[in-house]
Amino acid sequence: MDLGIRGRTALVCAASKGLGRGCATSLAREGVNLVITARGTEALEATAVELKKFGVSVKTVAGDITTADGREAALKACPSPDILVNNAGGPPPGDWREWDRETWIKALDANMLTPILLMRAVVDAMVARKFGRVVNITSGAVKAPIPELGLSNGARTGLTGFVAGLSRKTVRHNVTINSLLPGPFETDRLRSNLVFNAKAAGKTVEELRKIRSEANPAGRFGTVEEFGDACAYLCSAQAGYITGQNLLLDGGSYPGTF
Ligand code: NAP
Repeated sequence: MDLGIRGRTALVCAASKGLGRGCATSLAREGVNLVITARGTEALEATAVELKKFGVSVKTVAGDITTADGREAALKACPSPDILVNNAGGPPPGDWREWDRETWIKALDANMLTPILLMRAVVDAMVARKFGRVVNITSGAVKAPIPELGLSNGARTGLTGFVAGLSRKTVRHNVTINSLLPGPFETDRLRSNLVFNAKAAGKTVEELRKIRSEANPAGRFGTVEEFGDACAYLCSAQAGYITGQNLLLDGGSYPGTF
């Protein structure tokens, strides 16, 4: 299926590794020109080399997307994207009693306010051009909270509520805004969560990995390629009637009927 987005431009945030990189890769395969960001330059440049193999233009912006400077640099390199993929690292796990105001503000900045501010910067121009696709990478925690990730549960649900309203205003102009909710995907983030939880459970990381992956109805963790392809579809020309949705990619582990 040709997704009809060849020659479009995407800003993919936090894309040197993991899910963001998966999204950038699937978009590159569809012929989308890219601006990708991350804080560290080494993995970012290495990812750019791989993405360029698809014959698209790839610009890199090193910076923290959760800061004003990081967003300004990303938008300077890509002031008017057709596609925006919002992503950033997730907040750390922990005990809610230990999170002070500063900790909360950091989580809200990263996982709620940064995507909202980036949308504010680019959505009006998408509306004027009558094409735009925004995909927010949030978390399965939006649908089923993860106790030790209270900062994530709170901040991402705030973003989800905001997007639910905005996405109904923009779709008339062929600008859709949706979120992808990852369950467990095989990335560095998952590996660091496994380390935290293995310690708490008195198990080795490998023991916990086996237990968790076998407990998933799919019998495994997801792959970044699967995640990236779902993102590319939501960014496709064909997906113009899908907006305000929260697509859970979790191998079926959420137990509800819908
Ligand atoms: P990952 O493998 O650790 O990759 C994170 C990527 O984001 C890296 O490229 C990292 O590069 C970049 N990054 C992190 N913070 C950034 C920042 N402030 N500014 C710019 N770039 C930044 O993580 P992941 O598993 O792909 O997770 C992506 C998001 O999905 C996270 O918010 C995570 O909480 C969420 N999530 C993941 C899973 C999962 O199973 N993997 C499940 C639920 C939710 P630098 O470090 O160089 O900046």
